Amino acid sequence: MFHISTRSPSREELLNLVEEYGYVPLEPPQGIDLFAEIERLKREKNAILLAHYYQDADIQDIADFIGDSLGLSQKAAETDAEIIVFAGVHFMAETAKILNPTKKVLIPDLNAGCSLSDSCPPESFAAFKAQHPDHKVVSYINTSAAIKAMSDVIVTSSNAVPIVKALPSDWKIIFAPDKNLGQYVMKKTGRDMILWDGVCMVHTIFSYQKVLQMKRQYPEAELIAHPECEPAVLEQADFIGSTTALLNYVVKSPKKQFIVATESGILHQMRKAAPDKELIQAPAEYSCSCNTCPHMKLNTLEKIYNALLYEMPEVTLPPELIEAARRPIERMLEMSRELGLISKG
Ligand code: SF4
Repeated sequence: MFHISTRSPSREELLNLVEEYGYVPLEPPQGIDLFAEIERLKREKNAILLAHYYQDADIQDIADFIGDSLGLSQKAAETDAEIIVFAGVHFMAETAKILNPTKKVLIPDLNAGCSLSDSCPPESFAAFKAQHPDHKVVSYINTSAAIKAMSDVIVTSSNAVPIVKALPSDWKIIFAPDKNLGQYVMKKTGRDMILWDGVCMVHTIFSYQKVLQMKRQYPEAELIAHPECEPAVLEQADFIGSTTALLNYVVKSPKKQFIVATESGILHQMRKAAPDKELIQAPAEYSCSCNTCPHMKLNTLEKIYNALLYEMPEVTLPPELIEAARRPIERMLEMSRELGLISKG
């Protein structure tokens, strides 16, 4: 991964490396304590490290805040740190930049994309939207800034159901890009929506048949699932919720055993918060039972160290795109506050 040993590259050389590799591929000095160095750089540069629950355990352990998309966007909007390092995927770092545009937003690896976001290219979506001119657009936060700019309100898996429920009843709605979450929201709200045909490559992989087998094998266990999973898996679930909701459920439930159908990174926080509970990763359709997001896992401690040290790769967006994409995200945050889903502070 690291192709060049340590020396002092110029800014231009660094920019060229980032363009070629998507991250700074310089090897950190031999023998340094990456945890201590990252802490030092955060302090010196007034930087905050935000990490998604799907990050590796060591990144979660060094983060200033760990959360799902809703919690992370709220934190990004509120922080007064000068630099936000976003250990997540690209659309999340973009969201942080949109919500706090005067801050420098760094992402450890620009290659950390999202198959769900990529399943909704802006040009195709604009044409789809044009076919339904009387519809409003509700977009999941897992979209590019360009799709957000075409949306009326953004939702996350934490708030999609209550927000859609609270929207004016005469709104005709397009929901994008996750069709599984869209179907789940339709079922829970009774609202009819036109769904964009996108899925998350991680959540769609859980096997219905194997989940049934596992439920038979562990009759005492509860199946808990993220709403991006296929409807057949969701129908078997004892509890469906966002990553944060799944974590809280494990902590509060009197049950001792859980089959967890979401990205495996959350198991780290579940184990820390509820060490007495047994967690079983739900099985995937093909061979491996460990469902990890390859995009999220591109981030490493070394890349975070380099991002902080060299202050790149930086996420930048044109001001007019920031302006257009911010309105639907702010609407989500306002509605979430009004509905009591997040604190007013
Ligand atoms: S888990 Fe799915 S939705 Fe989340 S970043 Fe990975 S591909 Fe995208």
